[in-house]
Amino acid sequence: MSTPIIVQKFGGTSVANLDRMRNVADVVAAERDLGHHVVVVVSAMSGETNRLVALAHDAVEEPPPRELDALVATGEQVSTALLAMILSQRGIPARSILGYQMGLRTTGAHTRARITEFDRRTFDQAFAEGTVLVAAGFQGVDPEGDVTTLGRGGSDTTAVAIAAGLGASFCDIYTDVDGVYTADPNVVSNARLLEKIAYEEMLELASLGAKVLQIRSVELAMKYEVPVRVRNSFTRSAGTLLTKEDADMEGVAVQGVSLDRNDAKISLRRVPDQPGVASKIFTPLSEAGIVVDMIIQNASEDGKTDLTFTVPKTDLKQATRIVEKLAQEIGIHRVETAPDIAKVSIVGVGMRSHAGVATRTFSVLAQEGINIQMISTSEIKISVVIDEKYAELAVRSLHEVFELHKEPKARTSWT
Ligand code: ADP
Ligand code: ASP
Ligand code: MG
Repeated sequence: MSTPIIVQKFGGTSVANLDRMRNVADVVAAERDLGHHVVVVVSAMSGETNRLVALAHDAVEEPPPRELDALVATGEQVSTALLAMILSQRGIPARSILGYQMGLRTTGAHTRARITEFDRRTFDQAFAEGTVLVAAGFQGVDPEGDVTTLGRGGSDTTAVAIAAGLGASFCDIYTDVDGVYTADPNVVSNARLLEKIAYEEMLELASLGAKVLQIRSVELAMKYEVPVRVRNSFTRSAGTLLTKEDADMEGVAVQGVSLDRNDAKISLRRVPDQPGVASKIFTPLSEAGIVVDMIIQNASEDGKTDLTFTVPKTDLKQATRIVEKLAQEIGIHRVETAPDIAKVSIVGVGMRSHAGVATRTFSVLAQEGINIQMISTSEIKISVVIDEKYAELAVRSLHEVFELHKEPKARTSWT
């Protein structure tokens, strides 16, 4: 039987300083001692990417994406080199490797590039030599030969892509919490650690704000059925396994609650209610690369309607500029913006077969006096947009009412 390959990814807090890197070296050594081939993927040291992004914005008002990528990718160059030195000194042959050195090719969409391929020969050679490659997460190279990055949190995606390509037995995502919880453990103190979670549920949680895994990494894991474990690099917990949906999971109506504060709301008042208007509004937004999330349109009154939608807070300025220009052309009465909103969501594959989840959600928010501004649902999630100041209260109340702190078996059988 061939030697199992394990990809270990260490996030920013796990490599925040040299002591923590020494701890990472212990985790790598323990895996190697089990006789496995190990590939390490690292993020920049905690806070470094934010520092570099801020530096660029201090330098100029709108940093060109190509140069922004060239700048922020340096964070991972530092952490890979330091960790490789520490591993080597510990007696583990190790070598740092950047995106271009592993042939990690991406699309040319700077700051949000997608991986297209990488060269596995570099890895096979390292396995044959017994060298641990310490690969830079988050970065790649585009068809022009320019450095690209994969979007914030992108090292998760680098790790899962390498694990998929190498046919790794596990992709271990080491972070600062014990695994995936029923809610962000930094918001809900009695959140429960999940032993396993369905790819689909994790995809929804990640899309709805649980930043523990980058969305794209979950998409790749699901597509290639990569067994991803989310673990704690400090406690070395067994963690949470991402896996295909099973019968146990279907029995659980709500698996988790998530919170997203990254969106803002735009409302267009008294929009002419005519064919083609929505397309006139949303086409230029999408051409500008702005991702519109929720949309609601009110019933028409005297040929006019209200249209409300959400966009990432970081795109609010640009989106407002675009719709204000359109307002004059199309004859929209007023454009209102609200950056202070939050989206709270509940997720579970079991929602497909459980009735009453939505009613419970709305009534608990009503009891807390929280006004719902927008609602969107799918088969396995319910999201509401509310005033940002009630965000944590809403998350805690929903966690409580669905008894997520308890084992599913111990929950009240109201569904
Ligand atoms: P890293 O730097 O290791 O990539 P991140 O900060 O990106 O770590 O992700 C880990 C964080 O994700 C945790 O500290 C936690 O606050 C947050 N988080 C949000 N939702 C969840 C959840 N449901 N389970 C676990 N962590 C969550
Ligand atoms: N360093 C990058 C970021 O902070 C990538 C990552 O940490 O995954 O977003
Ligand atoms: Mg992360």
